[in-house]
Amino acid sequence: MSSAVPSITPSLGGVGWPSANTRLAGVIGHPVRHSLSPRLHQAAYRALGVDWAYLAFDVAPTSFAAAIQGAKALGLVGLSVTMPHKDAAARIATRRSPVVRRLGAANTLTFADGRIEADNTDGEGLLADLRQEVSFEPEGRCCGVIGAGGAARAVVVALAEAGASQVLIVNRTPARAFQAATLAPGRGRVAKPEELDQAELVVKATPMGMSTDAGAAAAAKEEVFVDASRFGAGQLVVDLVYDPPVTEWLAEAAASGARIRGGLGMLVHQAARQVELWTGSKPPLPEMWRAVGRPVPNRP
Ligand code: NAP
Repeated sequence: MSSAVPSITPSLGGVGWPSANTRLAGVIGHPVRHSLSPRLHQAAYRALGVDWAYLAFDVAPTSFAAAIQGAKALGLVGLSVTMPHKDAAARIATRRSPVVRRLGAANTLTFADGRIEADNTDGEGLLADLRQEVSFEPEGRCCGVIGAGGAARAVVVALAEAGASQVLIVNRTPARAFQAATLAPGRGRVAKPEELDQAELVVKATPMGMSTDAGAAAAAKEEVFVDASRFGAGQLVVDLVYDPPVTEWLAEAAASGARIRGGLGMLVHQAARQVELWTGSKPPLPEMWRAVGRPVPNRP
């Protein structure tokens, strides 16, 4: 796709930009004003020298289908998709990647030749972050996932496909944990919190600890679901929440001796994969990290 990318105008971001040649991408969600995706994508396009712009679209579920058809008709490059539209995005697509077919959820829509193509880069984003930033390879390892929602299910599939020996799923609502386990045949099973002690990687995929009203409500003491102080040396504990960068729960795991990782790396890498899909170019990770206020991590 890179050959189709128009070259940059010198005035990108200044007077005269956007121009009649500027191409548009964006993120669709509800709410979406807190999203870091515009910063990540705009930084990437600037670094790649493409004349593209990326906006946030706050669209209620009742208007989702109309918005997607409008975006396609207007010739948008693609859309990142966030809550609550990921399932609807998978349904509306005319082509679905294998992982979207498995999950029934998409975080990426690409408009190409009259088609709407759906991908899900969340799981790949986590794997890239684990491998590139903290040198963790799931192959042959026992891994645990706390939660069974959209993000957790993407993580379960990614860990199973990466060759994890077991994927233990711990969730408040057991029926949803069983559903998630079916996504990793032969490796996934529902587990009790204490079984996570044997996991070398534990990924928390619940909103507890987020800097939002929902996160604050979930963080009420009586709702703490898996006590992070049970983790320790030899374990890598990841919280997919990225605001704040280190949740209280994650800090507790660190205080108990575990290696920790917040959710920002997954966010950066899932966006990087979208940039690669849409532009056909290698994503400029250093610029993307800087756009979210982080120095480029030291590569191991
Ligand atoms: P979701 O589909 O709504 O799922 C939420 C999950 O959390 C469910 O399994 C739910 O359990 C559980 N849960 C909620 N409150 C809980 C509590 N107080 N105690 C125990 N379990 C609780 O949400 P999602 O889309 O998967 O997102 C989950 C988190 O991941 C969010 O914080 C989101 O921001 C983050 N995320 C981060 C990235 C990234 O790039 N870093 C990407 C995607 C998502 P039940 O099944 O019992 O309801």
